[in-house]
Amino acid sequence: MNQAFIALGTNIEPREEYLIQAIDILRANPNITISKKSSIYETAPVGYQNQADFLNMVLDLKTSLSSMDLLRVCQHIETELGRKRDIRFGPRTIDLDILTFNHENSTVERLIIPHPRMHERAFVLIPLAEIAPGFVIPVYEKSVESYLGELPESDKADVRLWKTEV
Ligand code: ATP
Ligand code: MG
Ligand code: MG
Repeated sequence: MNQAFIALGTNIEPREEYLIQAIDILRANPNITISKKSSIYETAPVGYQNQADFLNMVLDLKTSLSSMDLLRVCQHIETELGRKRDIRFGPRTIDLDILTFNHENSTVERLIIPHPRMHERAFVLIPLAEIAPGFVIPVYEKSVESYLGELPESDKADVRLWKTEV
């Protein structure tokens, strides 16, 4: 069995509904088990600022799928939930990113794992730290908590607990 963390993000209403639907579709997949869900956090946009606030969360999964097949599942959910790609880092109904997959190190453009920007994003590290504080990010070999400690306070203040149960 494989273990993966995935990050969910949405900033088009109904935001919570998109999270719930994405989780339901993952749950319905016989090859995927969700072992942990973080709380939902509300986050000021990063990268492209002229857009609505995000809801972000992280899931801990067990899966018999390969990392590429899990990526396909994630992209299929994005399409199903009406994701359009126009502005990079722009508004989206749902984004599902694979953060880590076992100890895999993939560098092909379609699937870079560990996710190359995860360690600099408070909206990823804060929910990940909630469900796996001592987790050592493969390849970088550094813990979630130590990356979090390196982030500016202002980045962390932009990520607010929004709801503890989904
Ligand atoms: P970011 O990756 O910085 O969070 P984004 O999630 O908005 O940005 P997308 O438009 O969702 O970017 O994805 C762009 C491409 O990234 C996709 O075509 C996908 O194949 C690729 N990709 C590379 N690594 C990953 C990964 N670890 N998880 C999900 N997609 C990935
Ligand atoms: Mg993303
Ligand atoms: Mg993405």
